[in-house]
Amino acid sequence: MTPSTPLLSGLDDLLPDLVSLYKDLHAHPELSFQEHRTASVVAGRLRKQGWEVTEQVGRTGVVGVLRSGEGPTVLLRADMDALPVKEETGLPYASKATAFTDDGREVPVMHACGHDVHVTALLGTTALLAARRDAWRGTVVAVFQPAEEVGGAPAMLEDGFAERFPHPDVCLAQHTAPVPVGYAGSRPGTIMSSSDSLRVLLKGRGGHGSVPEGTVDPVVLAASVVLRLQTVVSREVAAADMAVVTVGSLHTGTKENIIPDTAELKINIRADGPAVRRRVMAAVERVVRLESAVSGADEPEIEHFQSYPLTRNDPEATARTGEILSGVMAGPGRFLTLPRPLSGSEDFGQFGEALGVPSVFWFFGTTDPALFPDFDPSGLSSPPTGVPGAHSGRFAPLAEPSVETGVRLMTTAAAHWLGDA
Ligand code: ZN
Ligand code: ZN
Repeated sequence: MTPSTPLLSGLDDLLPDLVSLYKDLHAHPELSFQEHRTASVVAGRLRKQGWEVTEQVGRTGVVGVLRSGEGPTVLLRADMDALPVKEETGLPYASKATAFTDDGREVPVMHACGHDVHVTALLGTTALLAARRDAWRGTVVAVFQPAEEVGGAPAMLEDGFAERFPHPDVCLAQHTAPVPVGYAGSRPGTIMSSSDSLRVLLKGRGGHGSVPEGTVDPVVLAASVVLRLQTVVSREVAAADMAVVTVGSLHTGTKENIIPDTAELKINIRADGPAVRRRVMAAVERVVRLESAVSGADEPEIEHFQSYPLTRNDPEATARTGEILSGVMAGPGRFLTLPRPLSGSEDFGQFGEALGVPSVFWFFGTTDPALFPDFDPSGLSSPPTGVPGAHSGRFAPLAEPSVETGVRLMTTAAAHWLGDA
């Protein structure tokens, strides 16, 4: 373990400002690719700190570059977007924001995935790096990515990221987790699942609610598809493999006495390996097509509208980083090796894959320990019942010490990969 980096000596002075920045970002969440205010806060702070700043990378992304002589290049990434979720935390800085989705619906917006913690922590790290350029050698590329929830990393890469910014030797990122503050963890190899999103249009034949025999009812068909899909994981996936099939959206009909023509389902599929992913995708498609056929409906439309690959941590780089980060968490056993990949997904891994360099991604707990009377660190991947997880309207990271923990972890990891002065 290396001793604590001298960069952190300035942290105590920065914390009050960082905590109020966190609360400000939390109160002003923005949907994916709409992070205009967040991006301008980020760009303004980076410029003031002395970074070379490029805005509008991949639409709303911001990239900062800072050099201190010859040495390794390290990419640090934070994601900026929030979610269409209504905040129900009751916090004094809770979001009351609403925004419009691409299809024109007004929705509540909340930082329900902790990306406001990530942005604040990375701005803490960039401040410390800029204040103590004498303490490190190399180049830092700070990436404030838009739209993690809908593929912002590929948008930045397609916007010429590789040609426009220094080529990194390693990519580092972190994510909040609904586990007690004071715990963090990672794992070598696959750390997060693949994710595939399907839009399915079931094509029945509408008519009067009193004459069902003249129709093909898409409501009954949709119900049958949803229930049958529940058997894909339980009956077609081996116990040793991980997969999830969720129907998160189901829309059909307008009125009780009208049988509608169609039903639309949005289905999300997670898997921890390519073989199980292919198997589940094929099973979902089979269920949708054959349930339609059984109902006498027309051939359904199936559109694959979003896909995230597995997030893979480079084994050697992750072991090295984990060893260093263990020293940041107070007490032994506080930086854990996760026993299995999480069912969530991420697009961070696409930077390392596209640039051909190792990636390291880790989680840190941000939830009130009082909510975990019998916390078992081996179950780090999912919170106990009743504890609000990510994407819940009650997800409430503790501002203190979550921001501080995030800055300590990111700064220590960055310092480790950069050269000594
Ligand atoms: Zn999320
Ligand atoms: Zn997230």
